[in-house]
Amino acid sequence: MEKYAPQGRKVMANTLDRGFFMYQKEFEDKALEVLRSGWYVLGREVSSFEEEFAEYVGGKYCVGLASGLDALWIAFRILGIGAGDEVLVQANTYIASVMGITINGAVPVFVEPDEYYQLDASALEEKITDRTKAILVVHLYGQASNMDEIMRIAEKYHLRVVEDCAQSHGAKFRGQTTGTFGDIGCFSFYPSKNLGAFGDGGAIITNDEGIAREVRIFRNYGSEKRYYNKVVGANSRLDELQAGLLRVRLRHMDELEAQKREICEKYLSRLDGGKFLLPQIRGGATHIWHQFVIRSDRRDELMGYLEEKGIGTIIHYPIPPHLSEAYRFLGYGKGSFPVTERYADTVLSLPLFYGMEEEEQDYVIHWMNQF
Ligand SMILES: *Cc1c(COP(=O)(O)O)cnc(C)c1O
Repeated sequence: MEKYAPQGRKVMANTLDRGFFMYQKEFEDKALEVLRSGWYVLGREVSSFEEEFAEYVGGKYCVGLASGLDALWIAFRILGIGAGDEVLVQANTYIASVMGITINGAVPVFVEPDEYYQLDASALEEKITDRTKAILVVHLYGQASNMDEIMRIAEKYHLRVVEDCAQSHGAKFRGQTTGTFGDIGCFSFYPSKNLGAFGDGGAIITNDEGIAREVRIFRNYGSEKRYYNKVVGANSRLDELQAGLLRVRLRHMDELEAQKREICEKYLSRLDGGKFLLPQIRGGATHIWHQFVIRSDRRDELMGYLEEKGIGTIIHYPIPPHLSEAYRFLGYGKGSFPVTERYADTVLSLPLFYGMEEEEQDYVIHWMNQF
């Protein structure tokens, strides 16, 4: 226990270099291979990664992009969802989900989350108007959403479905991987995500050949053939170095997922469930544990107390999008989405990262239960 006392080492909320050192030789060999290849953008590494990631997710096509946010807004752009259109999205998401909608001029219509922190499917129908065009499902913290219900409602009202899988690489609902239920699945490979790069990266997954082709053209200035531009596109390309490094990590996803599962099962069994509200998992869903999120009515006090013990924690997220300065123009105030606001005031993510040591976790559990 003393080893991790505040004077010595700390248990940080996240320690990303551990995930590098686990496969250091493989990452370094791949990095050198790409650096020495003389080919840095849209080459063999990207197309191989796209094939391998599509297979991993169980979707037909993957197109690598520069970030998760790009995946989201390009998805809506290709689906033709923009000015005047409404998109249903859960109110307790990371703000990038909402930006994916509003960059195109569409309007986010917020829906409260359920007790699993996912879109509350029973609150969807009352929000549908004749301008509703799509549902953006965010599989938050790594748990698959209630896809049976969401897809049933989408089909009933002829709505498009886009999945924000930035936190849910490999999470499943009734055996089907998130990102393959709707029209487009959007992924981020930001370093802290479960499948993280060493810089920015993103991708879309789709079973629609036409959509895949349009995204492929769009990401490269709207051109399929160099200097023959068909549409006004963007520069949003996954680069060769990131793609190569992602391929290395993807090879190890099964053991990485198992490692996080083991850590979180220990948290679930050892943390005092009378003191903290522990995460719950919906029947039929799997959780890939992007974050381990507990709730406490004394959250801020708990966070300060843990900080004193040398334990870092993070709030995902302290300000819901509808209360952020960026979205003041939508006209919402405090009290607009009470469940979301209560979550924002009480959630706390515990230390969780690849390569976390048993001793570190025991230290966290010890002080949590002493609170
Ligand atoms: C990280 C994240 C994004 C954005 O991904 P970037 O690659 O950082 O642009 C979008 N949505 C959710 C839910 C995220 O967690």
